[in-house]
Order: sequence, then structure tokens, then C-alpha cells
Amino acid sequence: MSQTPNSLLPYARCFMALYERRPSPAALRGCIASWRALKGKTLEEAARGSQAWYEAGVRFWFLDALTTQSSGKGLETSKAEFMNGMEQTLSEGITGGWEAGVKEVGIEPDEISDEEYAACGEFIAEQVAYLPPVWEWIGTQVGNETARQSVLSRAEVWFNLWNAAATKGKLMAGQDVKMRWTRGPTEKSCPDCLKLDGKVFRARTWQKYDIMPQSDRLSCSGFRCLCSLVPTDERVTPGKPPALVGPK
Ligand SMILES: [Zn+2]
Repeated sequence: MSQTPNSLLPYARCFMALYERRPSPAALRGCIASWRALKGKTLEEAARGSQAWYEAGVRFWFLDALTTQSSGKGLETSKAEFMNGMEQTLSEGITGGWEAGVKEVGIEPDEISDEEYAACGEFIAEQVAYLPPVWEWIGTQVGNETARQSVLSRAEVWFNLWNAAATKGKLMAGQDVKMRWTRGPTEKSCPDCLKLDGKVFRARTWQKYDIMPQSDRLSCSGFRCLCSLVPTDERVTPGKPPALVGPK
């Protein structure tokens, strides 16, 4: 059975509460519209920090920025809200992705070291630094016929950070664990991902050569890379990882 918009209400309410916004009917409607990523997910799958939760949050703040900039009112407050909202979304989403990755090598979130959380924090800070130009860019879309579509496409570029965090988390936590490059369900894989598919190396080796899924060193630049490093008992591939073609 397909979900009616009403069944997304609980998600919308939790979400608005998280950002301490008063859930006016209009705000809730906007929120529900941006929560399509949660269709068919259980409340548990959509919990704070999950991939679905993170994607819905990014979508929400990008569309919200377009709406508020289109109205042209209270721009300074709106910008601050966008920055805070996205910062929280990134912080909780990237931490959630990191913890999910670490779990794959048998380590629970409460066993993650301070050093690992510090690395996760650094990754979050790097992304937060990219936010101001995004706000400005969304402003340039106001009035364009295809603004909504463009803003949603740009939001999607941020979705993969969740996977990137999972990759980083498990590489750092599972240094000696053997991991097999496993191609994601992308229609057209890039030459690097094709070449790496099925290769098995220890986490420390992948790190040493700085080769990992979602990396901007891949020929696909990583934004849409759905590959992952999966812990495996398979034998290590002889030799070293192949050299990357790299981005064009
Ligand atoms: Zn890939």
C-alpha cells in the first residue's frame, strides 16, 4: 500500500521539533513534500542520523532556502536558519553514516575512539565550510522556471556524504580488516570503479594509496559513486591497488 502524505506526518513533526520550528500547517506541508525520501521507510529506518533522515533533511533545507529567498523577506534570519539547519543535518547525518560504517567492522558506536570522532568532526567541518556559497547560489535560482529542479539536483550532490562518512569510518576503525571493492547499483560505473571492482585489500592499504569510494580522486569525482568497501574473508589481491585514471 502506498503511503498517503498524512502518514508522513510523524516524521515531519519529529523533524520540525528537532529544529525547534513551530510546525505551522504550511511549514508541515512543505516539510512533508521534502520528505519523499522516507516513503516506505519505517520510523526506525528513518531515525535521526539514518541515510533516509539525512537525505530528507538536506532536501528540506535546500527547498526551504529557495522558498525564503523567493519571498525576499528576512533574508539574514533565513540565511542563519539555513546555515544552522544544514549544520545540524550534516553533523547528525555524517556522524550517523560514520557509525554505520564502523558497525560493519564489528564496532559499536560507544566503542568509537575520541580520535575517530575527531576525524569525523573534521569531515563535518570541511563540508560546513562549503555552505555559504550554496546559499548564494540558491539565491541566483530565484525566478528561474526550473529553480526547484535545479535546487533538488544540487541537494542530491550532498546525499553521498553519508556514504562517504561510512567509508571513512570503517577504513579508520578496521585497519587490518580485508575489504572488497563492491560496485554500486549505478547505471554507468566510471573507469576507476570498474577497474577496482572485486579487488581485495586491507583497510590500511586502501588508505595508504588514498583510494576509496566517493573520493574526488576517482574519474567519476565520487559524487554519485555508490560503490562500497565490504569486509570480506576473500584473499588479498596480489600486488598493489591499480593506479587511478582520475577526474577529467
Ligand atoms: Zn563508484
